[in-house]
Amino acid sequence: MNLLENASKTAEGVMLNGFLLSPVVERCAGCDRVRQFESQEFCSSYPDPTTKWVGGRCNFATHIKAASAAAAKVNPLKASKRAAKGR
Ligand code: SF4
Repeated sequence: MNLLENASKTAEGVMLNGFLLSPVVERCAGCDRVRQFESQEFCSSYPDPTTKWVGGRCNFATHIKAASAAAAKVNPLKASKRAAKGR
């Protein structure tokens, strides 16, 4: 796993670019944006991964997007109706 670059450990916690970072949540497991820093895992895109999962999936999750994008690509019923109309 990649390391979190430019992060630093402060009295308040792990900081990156002025943001205090919270560790990733369980649902982040497998995401390409997870970075390791001092044996904890953080998100390279968001300081607080928990909020990215409130009310749905994280819109930057690389491990979920691939699956849902493939599922959304073709709705077989609609595709066949569309094809039938075109004829
Ligand atoms: S991009 Fe989303 S899913 Fe991936 S590590 Fe960050 S918060 Fe978690």
